[in-house]
Amino acid sequence: MARWFTEHYPPNRYFCVVGSPIGHSRSPGIHTAFAQQFGIELIYERVEVAAGDLAAAVDEFRTAGGRGMNVTVPLKEEAWSLAEIRSPRAALAGAANTLWFEGGRLAAENTDGLGLVRDLGANHGVELEDREILLLGAGGAARGVLPALLEAGPSRVTISNRSAARAEALVTAFAAHGRVASLAWGAAPDDPPDLVINATSLSLHGELPPLGAAVIAPGTVCYDMVYARDGTPFTRWAEAHGARLALDGLGMLVEQAAAAFEVWHGCAPRTAGVIEAMRRGD
Ligand code: NDP
Repeated sequence: MARWFTEHYPPNRYFCVVGSPIGHSRSPGIHTAFAQQFGIELIYERVEVAAGDLAAAVDEFRTAGGRGMNVTVPLKEEAWSLAEIRSPRAALAGAANTLWFEGGRLAAENTDGLGLVRDLGANHGVELEDREILLLGAGGAARGVLPALLEAGPSRVTISNRSAARAEALVTAFAAHGRVASLAWGAAPDDPPDLVINATSLSLHGELPPLGAAVIAPGTVCYDMVYARDGTPFTRWAEAHGARLALDGLGMLVEQAAAAFEVWHGCAPRTAGVIEAMRRGD
């Protein structure tokens, strides 16, 4: 059997992020920076865990005295399935990115949506209440952020995805909220939305969603969940077409980590300096 974790770590101070591939993850640096703010000593590692192996990895982590585990692609749905306790947000999202043990039982939260909403609101002053949101994509990230987005009280979230069936499945899953609709991929909304969120992986491949320039009005904010030091294809396109703000997902990454840190340690870290340091490439 694969060995993921060593057992000589001090109990209760051991954290990790699991996924595949995992080598690029910035989570160890972010959590270490947060811990320094409170004088908390911790060990936070990246651990390569393939799809299908999470249950065994969680058991081993528990035996090793592990305290908290972040979960990334492709394990978020697996994490959700394994959890014995789910927060309301995780329950709705159908995916989890933060795990810990409560009285020996595996507990799960999804902090991606909170990270996005905090980055938009607290870091950039973007209001979501009574706003029209166009959400591009219907994969794990789109689904994961929907509960927190809907809690923020938008007038409507319209989901547009290349595979229409996945967008429809999300609309059905969140139908109880009554403010979720779908739009054909590449179709123009009737009016420019207040906020366009790109939750597809297109920017990773240097590609743009098929949006006409008419989707951007002078007040429109565009947000790409992908992040890149010099902007993503989508944020550059949005800037060129007059978006009020064109934001990438670095702030979301740090804010979702801050929310996970708060779940585990019970204290909320300051994020601005960490975002700035990461933007500089420190
Ligand atoms: P998934 O693989 O679950 O979903 C990918 C999404 O992108 C789907 O909606 C898919 O559409 C769409 N897509 C992929 N290729 C194309 C294409 N060629 N044309 C049109 N649509 C395409 O990934 P996730 O949802 O987990 O992640 C999406 C992105 O969000 C990733 O790039 C990830 O890095 C980023 N992310 C950022 C976070 C942050 O903290 N900043 C947190 C989480 C994710 P279809 O359904 O048709 O295949």
